[in-house]
Amino acid sequence: MISTNFQTVAYVVAAALFILSLSGLSNPETARRGNMFGIVGMVLALLATALGETFDTVGAWVLLLAAVAPACVIGVVVAKRVKMTEMPQLVALLHSFVGAAAVLVGFSTYLHPTGGEGHVLTHAEELIHIIEVYVGVGIGSITFTGSVIACGKLHGKISGAPLTLPGRHMLNLVLVILTVVCGVLFARAAGADNISGALVWLGLGTVLTGIIGLHLVAAIGGADMPVVVSMLNSYSGWAASAAGFMLSNDLLIITGALVGSSGAILSYIMCKGMNRSFISVILGGFGTADGGGGGVVVEGDHREISAVDTAARLKQAKKVIIVPGYGMAVAQAQHALADVTKKLRDSGVKVSFAIHPVAGRLPGHMNVLLAEAHVPYDIVHEMEDINDEFPETDVVLVIGANDIVNPAALDDPTSPIAGMPVLHVWESKLVVVMKRSMASGYAGIGNPLFFKENTSMLFGDAKKVVEDIRAAL
Ligand code: NDP
Repeated sequence: MISTNFQTVAYVVAAALFILSLSGLSNPETARRGNMFGIVGMVLALLATALGETFDTVGAWVLLLAAVAPACVIGVVVAKRVKMTEMPQLVALLHSFVGAAAVLVGFSTYLHPTGGEGHVLTHAEELIHIIEVYVGVGIGSITFTGSVIACGKLHGKISGAPLTLPGRHMLNLVLVILTVVCGVLFARAAGADNISGALVWLGLGTVLTGIIGLHLVAAIGGADMPVVVSMLNSYSGWAASAAGFMLSNDLLIITGALVGSSGAILSYIMCKGMNRSFISVILGGFGTADGGGGGVVVEGDHREISAVDTAARLKQAKKVIIVPGYGMAVAQAQHALADVTKKLRDSGVKVSFAIHPVAGRLPGHMNVLLAEAHVPYDIVHEMEDINDEFPETDVVLVIGANDIVNPAALDDPTSPIAGMPVLHVWESKLVVVMKRSMASGYAGIGNPLFFKENTSMLFGDAKKVVEDIRAAL
């Protein structure tokens, strides 16, 4: 067993490693190192906790191992099996666990307040503890039910259509007021040492906040769900932080705050990328747009091009920009694409990648795939850094992308994606769009890009088509 001082030092080091991890993860070049810092920090935190005073008996260790060992096995199996495109729902599921843990910790610390053997809480400490418990349980319960619904929607188990009950904002308001009333009654009962009464109010508060989480997320359409997942990520951080306060565990408070704030920043970036109101997301009151369709129908004649002709145009080009999207991830075309990029660069063509902030199904999706295929980082550019370069570009290859290159976002104020920043690919001399059909993308709307004079469609599975181009180069 280690001393409390030693444990505190380990916690401080772990917290510093978590901060280094986050800073490393902000750049693809340092992401691996950032990941490693996170792993080492977490192992250190777990060891310092397990070897601390809390687990000072064999029985406690047995309980700890019984909880942790199966969870580790399940975690490894699930993480190995999950596809990159299914990551958002897995993340949502993991958030629900954090929420459930915060609820359980809340109930348990109410019944057994921490503070050391024989430590009698002062009146002020007791009140703070009661508030901590209620707030922690509330945040946890919202995170739990919200994340379960988000996971179900993303996984297709629950309809992606938004649930728009009549008077739903009023319903939310009533639920919030009832939650506050239950909180006051819980505090009064707990203050009067009426444990059974307090448990009833705490239980009711848990149910009410659970309904709030469920209703807030159910009201949001499928297309906005990944932003909600990122927001729930933030909530799960605050839930963990609340659990840290309840357990008087500084590391949990710090780690939760890091997750909470980084989740909020990520949500903000995604909201900007999709032209959504950040405040509306936090309040869960947005997203009535149905991600599954109902969009504008776009019709016209389109041109087609073969892989061989595309290769010929690429060879003649001086400057090429590649725009990857969700379809590249589905087809796993990144390795063949990296080969094509290398061949073109070797023959003197300037090749760049343009990454939209919400390309794919989770932030950084494209960057991860391109890094995996060893595409050099310095030719991969963010949207705002490259959007002005399309007019001087000879060929743009759009690979399995749709919404992020849809000019309707700029031209059609009635479009569900109106105002969403997009890549101006149509300003280049030739756009080759590789996809399997004329079908719409995630937002379920038509794309006028496909019918422009300088656009040619190259139909087929992205991997197969890119391999054909590679063979023809
Ligand atoms: P889209 O979903 O708009 O388009 C992807 C296209 O890929 C489809 O039109 C599909 O067309 C094509 N495709 C699918 N499979 C293949 C395949 N095997 N080979 C070739 N093509 C294929 O994706 P984008 O990346 O353009 O846009 C991302 C969307 O996701 C946006 O609507 C964005 O708002 C949303 N989103 C993203 C978030 C993020 O954080 N990244 C968060 C929230 C939402 P076809 O079926 O004809 O092949």
